Amino acid sequence: REEPVLFRLENVVAGYADCTVLRGVELSVRPGEVVALLGANGAGKSTACAVAAGDLPVAAGRVLLDGRDVTAWPAHRRARAGVLLAPEGRGVFPGLTVDENLRTWLDDPAPAYERMPQLAARRGVPAGALSGGEQQLLTLAPALVRPPRVLIADEPSLGLAPLVVRQVFEVFAELRERGVALLLVEEKATEALAVADRVAFMRLGRITWTGPRSEVDADRLTAAYLGVS
Ligand code: ATP
Repeated sequence: REEPVLFRLENVVAGYADCTVLRGVELSVRPGEVVALLGANGAGKSTACAVAAGDLPVAAGRVLLDGRDVTAWPAHRRARAGVLLAPEGRGVFPGLTVDENLRTWLDDPAPAYERMPQLAARRGVPAGALSGGEQQLLTLAPALVRPPRVLIADEPSLGLAPLVVRQVFEVFAELRERGVALLLVEEKATEALAVADRVAFMRLGRITWTGPRSEVDADRLTAAYLGVS
């Protein structure tokens, strides 16, 4: 039985100044579903994430949460409604300690330390002095303690060591089990496909194909990245 769609980009057109990037993007995510958004550099994946999170306005189309039109909601209002963006480890305050960072999101950081012991060991260290992997885990820790409804992850494993990449994907797998709707942009197609339920290929600001992961094979991947799909 399929859950109803929780989060949706409907025919979204968006871009920067006089450059249109998204040219009618259709994307939907259900609770407990991971949708991997794949495509070559410059296809518009990060732009789609920015629109989804409320960091970039649309020129046309709508963003829907639970069927409700949230297109005009700024990022902080969407975050309060449970739509969170986890960008490449940039979500931390570098000058605050690990503990102070966690306290900006959580009343009590203890459950986060329980889940991520390596953060506990670094609790007094300024976040800016952490490794990229530790920063990424710090960004994701609050989501584990208080799962959002929708998590948008833009290149969450960029530049991270393999061990941390595995940990990041374990977090996603757990959030999916807990019913979070996950939109995942990831250059590492193998890792993304391993956790994805559904895949959407993007090219030149449009979704060129979407379907279950089981229908994605090497040919389809190659075609998507080469732009012949
Ligand atoms: P990548 O994997 O390289 O990040 P992407 O699929 O995420 O690729 P986007 O980052 O969304 O693609 O970029 C799509 C297009 O929008 C590119 O041509 C890029 O140059 C342009 N672009 C992205 N951010 C901005 C910005 N802040 N201002 C102007 N143009 C931008």
